[in-house]
Order: sequence, then structure tokens, then C-alpha cells
Amino acid sequence: MEEARIHRVEGRLYVPYHNWYGRITSKFFIALRDEGRIMALHCRECHRTYMPPISPCPQCYSPLEEWRELSPTGTLLSYTYVNYLYSQKLQPRHPPYALGLIRLDGADTALCHLLGDISREELRMGLRVEAVFREQREGSILDIEYFRPLGKGQ
Ligand SMILES: [Zn+2]
Repeated sequence: MEEARIHRVEGRLYVPYHNWYGRITSKFFIALRDEGRIMALHCRECHRTYMPPISPCPQCYSPLEEWRELSPTGTLLSYTYVNYLYSQKLQPRHPPYALGLIRLDGADTALCHLLGDISREELRMGLRVEAVFREQREGSILDIEYFRPLGKGQ
């Protein structure tokens, strides 16, 4: 076979799709969208609270049914500062921006989300933060626009 006779074209596909959330994730996003409430699932057997909510419990495999509303405040467990543009379609913002791992008060798990109203120098593990909700919410995790240092919005 002559290599010069094989024609190759480089390309990239973008495929539109719908993602059907299950019962638990739907309840979480509907409460976030319609009421601005952050809901978690609590395990009655091992007493862990999961946010984002999941079931069954990954520790003891009990089915989780006990919903709890969490405060929009929490603690920054870890963070990273993104200053590199790798995808205009996949990145939530144009760099630079900060991402954090936030454990809301009352939860045993953490959520990765955007950090805002904060300088790079202010970022530190253990920082107390609060959720800032979008006014027009549509049922996605970005209905929480970002987390900012607690009390910074007052
Ligand atoms: Zn459990």
C-alpha cells in the first residue's frame, strides 16, 4: 500500500445530547433551581451526610432517603488556581479563576466549585465560604454561581 494515497482529515465532533437525571439528582437540582436550597442525603446507619446527594451510601450500602437542607456556608478544603485556557467550551470561565473543594456545614463530603470575590493571595485551606446563587437559575450546579469568603458580600 502506498501511504501517499491514503487521505486523512483531522476533525473534532461536538455532539448535542440530553442527560436524564435520576430521582435523587433531579430532586437536588429542582430544589436548587426553584428554591435556592442545597439538599443533601443523610445515612441513618453510618451517620454520614452526602452533598452532592447519592444513594446508596458508599460506606455501608444502605439506601438513603433522609433529605436534609444544608446551610450555604462551608469550609474550603483545597483549591487550585487556573490560569491556562485549554477549552473555551469546557471551562466554566475564561482564566484566570479559582476552583475549590468545599465542604458545606453539615456535610461529610465536598463539592468542587468556582471561587469568586477572592484574590489569589486570599486563597487558603480552612477559609470559611458561602454560596452565591444566580438570580436566574436553570437547574444546574452553576445555579450556585460561585463560593466567596464568608461575609464578603455584606
Ligand atoms: Zn451509610
